Amino acid sequence: MQIPWNLPVKLSTYAKDRYSVVFPVLTKCPCCNSAVKLKRHGFYERNALAGNRCYRISICRYLCPSCLKTISLLPWFLLPHFQHNRNTILKSLRESFKKITSALDRQLVAFYHKRFLANIPALLREPWSDVGFRVSSTANAHYTRFFGVLGFR
Ligand SMILES: [Zn+2]
Repeated sequence: MQIPWNLPVKLSTYAKDRYSVVFPVLTKCPCCNSAVKLKRHGFYERNALAGNRCYRISICRYLCPSCLKTISLLPWFLLPHFQHNRNTILKSLRESFKKITSALDRQLVAFYHKRFLANIPALLREPWSDVGFRVSSTANAHYTRFFGVLGFR
């Protein structure tokens, strides 16, 4: 499971040094709802594309000692299963809907369009809110605007 995380530094700073931030202590499992301290469980690498820039970043993982499932912290400006950041995807979708030529390749925009529509149910689920995780007000406002732009409440 991935939960949104308010990355406290710029993406470029984090990409250069993952230890430029202090990772939070999680005291409740979003999978099994147990009130346990989740153990840090390493990192995995993923791409984060911001416009035409590509960053390779580390995603911090935690392990629940109760249910043995892993939880990862996804910076709030990224979406699960998408390499481009949220703003780039939204901008390309908006341009696609308005029939404006996007800065991104036409086939890539069509891919994002199709994939976005297929993933709407998962995006709307917001599992972290069901288990008491508080999303920062900045991230929460962004999610509200994100879904509001697309006509969801
Ligand atoms: Zn658990």
